[in-house]
Order: sequence, then C-alpha cells, then structure tokens
Amino acid sequence: MNTPSNTMGIDLIEPTDYINWYKSYYNTIAPSYTFRYQYAEYIQERYNIIKNNKFIKFNEYKCTAIDIKTINEKIEIITSNNEKVYSDYLVYCPGHVMSQNFSYLSNNINFINDPHNINFDLLNKEQIGIIGSGLTSVDVVRYLVSKNYKGIINIYTRNYNLPTVLSVKNNYNPTIFTYTNIFTEYLKGKEIKLTNIIKLFNKELNLINSEHKKAELLKYKNTNKYFNYLMTRSYNADLPLQDILFSTRYYASNIWQILKEEDKKLFNRKILPKWNTWRHPIPRESFEYLIDLSRENKIKYHKINYKPLVDKDIFLINTQKGIMKETCIIDATGGNLNMNQNNDKFVKSLLNKKIAIPNPHGGLKISPNDHTLINNSNYKNIYLIGQLSKGDLFSTNAFWFNTRVANKIANHLIGKLI
Ligand SMILES: Cc1cc2nc3c(=O)[nH]c(=O)nc-3n(C[C@H](O)[C@H](O)[C@H](O)COP(=O)(O)OP(=O)(O)OC[C@H]3O[C@@H](n4cnc5c(N)ncnc54)[C@H](O)[C@@H]3O)c2cc1C
Repeated sequence: MNTPSNTMGIDLIEPTDYINWYKSYYNTIAPSYTFRYQYAEYIQERYNIIKNNKFIKFNEYKCTAIDIKTINEKIEIITSNNEKVYSDYLVYCPGHVMSQNFSYLSNNINFINDPHNINFDLLNKEQIGIIGSGLTSVDVVRYLVSKNYKGIINIYTRNYNLPTVLSVKNNYNPTIFTYTNIFTEYLKGKEIKLTNIIKLFNKELNLINSEHKKAELLKYKNTNKYFNYLMTRSYNADLPLQDILFSTRYYASNIWQILKEEDKKLFNRKILPKWNTWRHPIPRESFEYLIDLSRENKIKYHKINYKPLVDKDIFLINTQKGIMKETCIIDATGGNLNMNQNNDKFVKSLLNKKIAIPNPHGGLKISPNDHTLINNSNYKNIYLIGQLSKGDLFSTNAFWFNTRVANKIANHLIGKLI
C-alpha cells in the first residue's frame, strides 16, 4: 500500500491503531507502508470486535444491492437474492464502481476486464498486453510474477507515464508551495486560480533538484535506467518532488473544493495523469520487480495512440512505434468515473430514479458539507463515501481520507438518531 501505516487506523481519533495492532499481532514493528493482506487481517479483526460488541445490532446481507426505491422517507433496497431491505438512512460506500473504458471488447474471451480476476490459462501465453501503466497495472505485474509467468509483458500507456517509487523518507519541506501561501492567494483575490497555484508550484520546483527532470528523459531512452535512477534516489531519500506533492495530503481536498469549475476541468484534462504518477508512487518492493523485469527485457512500455481494435481474435494496438499485435489483453486502466457510461445496476437505479446525479468531474454529486447525495428532489437521506465522491472531494483514493468522511457521517447520523 502507498499510504503510511501510521495513518491507517480505522478510527480518525486513533490513527496509530493499525501500527499498534500490528505490533501486538506480528510481534514486530509495522513497516512504514504495509501489505494489503496484513491490512485485510486488521480490518477483519476490528470489524468482528465491533460486530460482536452487542451495542450495535448488525444485519448482514451477503449479496449485491441491485435496485433502490424511496418510499416517502423510507429507503427500500432490492438485493440480488431478491430480498427487500428497508431503512431510514443509507450510507453508500461501493469503492471503485468504474465505467468500462473498453466495453466494445467485453464479449471477447481474450479481453480481461477485471484485472483482479485473471484466469490461469493466461499464464501459458508467450506474451500478455496490459492497458494502463498505473497502480493497477503494477498489481497485475506482481500477480503474474507471483505465478511464475515467464513471457513478455507489454504495457500500453496513453501518456507514457511510468510508475514512480516511494522514498525511504520524506525530507524536503516546501517553503513556497504551502497551504498558507495558496490560501493567502485565495484571500487576496477572493477566488483561487489554477494558474496561480501552478506558479507557486513552479517557484518551489526551481528550488530543488527535482527527480522528474532526468527521469522524464530516461524513461524514453532506457526503461531499466529510469527505474534504477528513481530507486537510487529513493534509497537516498532524495525525491523532493514527491515530498512536495505529499505535503498536499491534508489540504488537497480543501483547495479542490474552492477551485472554479473550469479549473477543475483543466486540471483533470491536463494535469491529472502526471499528478497520479508522481503523487501515487509504489512501494520499493514492487518497484524491484519492475527493475528486474525491465533488465531482462520482459516488460516493455508502449505509447498507445488509439483504443485497441480487434481482428479475428487478434488485438491490434496502434502505438507510436507502429501496430502491435496481442492475443490477450488485460484492462488495468481502472476504468473511468463518467457515471453516464456506468453499467452497475445500483448506480443506474440511483440515476434513473433521479436519486443521484452525475458529477461532471467524476462520480456522483454530493454536498461536501454533510456528504449526502445531491438529487433533483432534495431527498437527503443517502450518504456517499469513497471514490464516487471524487468529483466533489478529490482525495477519495486514500483510506485515511475515507475514514475521516465516515467519522463525520457517523457523527451526523448519531445526531439524527438519538
Ligand atoms: C490499485 C489500487 C491501489 C490502491 N492503493 C491504496 C493504498 O495504498 N492506500 C490507500 O489508502 N488506498 C489505496 N487505494 C484506494 C482504496 O481502494 C481505498 O482507500 C479503500 O479501499 C476504499 O475503501 P472503500 O470501503 O470505499 O471501498 P472498497 O474497499 O472498494 O469496498 C467497497 C465494497 O463495496 C462492494 N460493493 C460495491 N457495490 C455494491 C453493491 N451494489 N452491493 C453490495 N456491495 C457492493 C464492493 O464489492 C466492495 O467490496 C487503492 C486503490 C486501487 C484501485
């Protein structure tokens, strides 16, 4: 995981709960960045404690919510088991309910649209194509390596952004690109402009020997050198650009919320791909895999021009260096947050019944003050947590942030219920 362990507690008021649990469970100090399966054990254990404490009555339904109705003030949820469940309030936290980027390929058996559900036949292929070069693609590579896959992995990327690596320590403290300075700009002008934020950012960049300058050149020349270069700087705790971007962790959402609509659009269109690459580095352990594979020429990155085409079960991928052919491709793009293209039954039901409306910047519209879904009928009893509120909150892909929202909603609900 790429969020510091000491921020991973399930309760906002005890962020170190996870590292304390880790110490007593594994009898050793938690690593700065933890592994998912260990975190899953923690979540499971904490969940069981809450469930068994008898103060809260739990009814668990192991199924998918597929439809929703609002009947006066009540909410009716219809499940995949054909049950009807009634409640006064709903907290909707579905995680990554993404719209498919390649829905036209979904009927092809050699197109894998769920990167976390890869079938074993694939491991016999001499070559595998992965679309997308972000965190999900690294997950897929790690999975293939763990299954002893020996073939070639071609990774197709729109912007040629290669993964970056976490520093052993964040050393650099920005002095110009700070919350105070950004917010002072806001107070002076009564509005905040993306161009002004970028100016502050560039001034800060001028003060450092940023890792991105040489890395951006190396990645086109020699992928292995690119990975090694960043890894060396990581071990020397010399990734000041990462330090600057990490310093925005606790305020990025606040700035996002006061940005003008056109600046949000501009950011998403022009800056987001680079932001995702440099703001969300991967653990060194995963990076080592990329170093090894690139040294052996087993992993190759290609800049893709258009979406893949298919001809007689062969995928044709138009890249900057010509047409590549693949017999099997995995979608690791993570999908997109355009809810008008979403096929999830529950999301469709929310939209069709006008209980929710799409946010032009991704996901569903919420009121950032109380996290309730915004809709056309002023119906206020549905709360949203997580990725689908990205259009309004921006920082929704970090556990600690979602925990903060969950705490706020819980307090809000307690206020209403007692
Ligand atoms: C590749 C990748 C790497 C990440 N790395 C990190 C990281 O290192 N650190 C970090 O903090 N965050 C990371 N994230 C973000 C991470 O997903 C969130 O922080 C966290 O998991 C969000 O929790 P959640 O409960 O909102 O969603 P999830 O953990 O996704 O849980 C949502 C659950 O709701 C279920 N669901 C959805 N729809 C329905 C329905 N209609 N009916 C019933 N159930 C439904 C889903 O099946 C799922 O089980 C990463 C995300 C990705 C994709």
